Amino acid sequence: MSNRRKFIKGGILGAVGAAIFPKIALSEGKKNPHSTNGFPMVISTWSHGIPANEAAMKVLLKGGSAIDAVEAGVRVPEADPESMSVGYGGLPDRDGHVTLDACIMDHTGNCGSVSFLQHIKHPISVARKVMEKTPHVMLSGAGALKFALDNGFPKEDLLTDKARKRWEEWLKDSQYKPIINVENHDTIGLLALDQNGDISGACTTSGLSYKMHGRVGDSPIIGAGMFVDNEVGGCCATGVGEAVMKTLGSFLIVELMRQGASPQEACEEGIARIVKNQNYRDMQIGYLAINKQGEHGAYSVHPWFNYALHQGGSSELIDSPFYIQK
Ligand code: ASP
Repeated sequence: MSNRRKFIKGGILGAVGAAIFPKIALSEGKKNPHSTNGFPMVISTWSHGIPANEAAMKVLLKGGSAIDAVEAGVRVPEADPESMSVGYGGLPDRDGHVTLDACIMDHTGNCGSVSFLQHIKHPISVARKVMEKTPHVMLSGAGALKFALDNGFPKEDLLTDKARKRWEEWLKDSQYKPIINVENHDTIGLLALDQNGDISGACTTSGLSYKMHGRVGDSPIIGAGMFVDNEVGGCCATGVGEAVMKTLGSFLIVELMRQGASPQEACEEGIARIVKNQNYRDMQIGYLAINKQGEHGAYSVHPWFNYALHQGGSSELIDSPFYIQK
């Protein structure tokens, strides 16, 4: 048996606990009042996903599209100063600048993104405008800012007092070294299946805190931080973006589902590709995936990754199964 197979087997038998199988309860037990096929549904990373999912589900329950839902959903943590890894209130880079990355993708395969964007509270909405109003996929830095301003987005100071104080504390003994560890990040990636069964996704972040100025992570890279294919499913990532970019994780996971893997198996294989070649002990990476039936999977390198699921009329926060068994 190949190492890859062993990993999948070990992962499923060894690490996937009861927490990951509400999908069985959802499809066999809890009936979705709006659909018998597992949708509409919304799923997203971390606890800030709970209010984001609520906002997205409101759109879906009115018959709205997945693309409108994902945008509405992630705008909630983008505007929340307490969500210190996304949008307004996000922790800055090592020079004290809040720089944002985001991407969005719809069920037709259309997509848009912005990277290294400053002063705009809702990068996801700028990414959507890039998708809808330009022939391009990604705008970056000063060009992205100019595009946002030209399209009526207000220029704002995104560095809150709380974030500035944290950064000043960090500066005291950081020696100005960017860090990659298991805790200095928390992107929101959000996937939705609407009442027509169409999938869209969004991903938005202030990236790794205290990163080098100009650093861009996986979150705005279509296929790395997020990817959807309406024939198959969708995936989004959180954690150390460098590791996700090196394996083009979200695209990989969607392709594995196309070849027959369940969302859970595909997420485990996505993590397997990372731990195979990279020093994973210092890095947290989490993947979330859904398929067209509304089944989902999640997997991370370390414990402590959780995700929010809104499906079948209920909203819950679920602990992801993980690779490292101490
Ligand atoms: N993936 C993001 C990045 O590398 C970080 C995160 O998930 O918070 O920028």
